[in-house]
Amino acid sequence: MKPVAFEYFAPRTVDEALSLLAGVEGAKVLAGGQSLVPAMNFRLARPPALIDVNQIDGLDQITATGDLVRIGALTRHRTLEAPDLDGPLASLLGVMARHVGHMPIRVRGTFGGSLAHADPAAEWCLLARTLDATVVAGSVTGTREIPAEEFFTTVFTTSLRSDELLTEVRLPILTERHLVGFSEFSRRAGDFALAMVAVVVEVDAGVVHTAQVGAGGVSDVPVRLMGAEAALIGNPWEPAMWDKAAEAAMSEVNPFEDIHGSAEYRRDLMGALLRRACSQAAS
Ligand SMILES: Cc1cc2nc3c(=O)[nH]c(=O)nc-3n(C[C@H](O)[C@H](O)[C@H](O)COP(=O)(O)OP(=O)(O)OC[C@H]3O[C@@H](n4cnc5c(N)ncnc54)[C@H](O)[C@@H]3O)c2cc1C
Repeated sequence: MKPVAFEYFAPRTVDEALSLLAGVEGAKVLAGGQSLVPAMNFRLARPPALIDVNQIDGLDQITATGDLVRIGALTRHRTLEAPDLDGPLASLLGVMARHVGHMPIRVRGTFGGSLAHADPAAEWCLLARTLDATVVAGSVTGTREIPAEEFFTTVFTTSLRSDELLTEVRLPILTERHLVGFSEFSRRAGDFALAMVAVVVEVDAGVVHTAQVGAGGVSDVPVRLMGAEAALIGNPWEPAMWDKAAEAAMSEVNPFEDIHGSAEYRRDLMGALLRRACSQAAS
């Protein structure tokens, strides 16, 4: 199918894009187009106008300043496979990026587009929630900094206003004391995951000091698994504790069921994926 007719704007600056978002009723931002264009072609989305932000300079930068990494909204998934960064965050980004769809999708699709689209099984949404990212959104009235916990509201829905442009996402820099792991399960390579787990732990002298454990694909938004985190913190970083964390994770998630798997199956997956993510972090 083909989309319904729409107007097309290609602003060259963020300010121009913000004026268009404020002035053109119902307009949608076009980033990589990997989710929006198929939805338009199926006529699930019928925006009267598209604001293509691909020609705006500077929205695709990754910068590390102080204790933060800023990822520009237009950074392509493909760039994040081998980001120009050091340390554990670079490893985590690289591992997760390679699970986002297929290569042609990664070449076009963007980090900011993925967050704005808010698929509950999207890798970048899980990363943002696990690391307590801050989402930066601009509009003609100013800039908002939105904590990831408040950004994702439900399936395919965020707290972004229709006149706002997501410009960057801020993540904490991880130190050499941080260990990172990620595991997901999908039926075919390149498919969205049925479930996924990210683990970030700070280990000192063999003991876990901080733990951030996030899960995607099991709820309407990515979630932090506080029970699993509590099972790890203060304990030795060893497989017996990963098993305890896996048990906690299985009991605290309340997965939905769909044609791809039952709730019980997803719950079991949580345990297996968490153990794998811990084992990956340890290696
Ligand atoms: C076959 C297939 C498999 C895929 N598999 C995966 C997968 O395994 N994991 C995964 O995470 N994703 C997957 N995707 C989706 C892909 O990652 C998309 O790139 C992503 O969801 C949307 O990013 P985009 O840049 O293409 O955004 P677009 O499609 O351009 O936009 C998506 C939505 O976000 C809004 N938007 C985009 N950018 C901004 C912005 N800066 N500010 C405000 N609003 C904005 C748009 O208006 C639109 O509503 C898959 C896609 C396909 C087609």
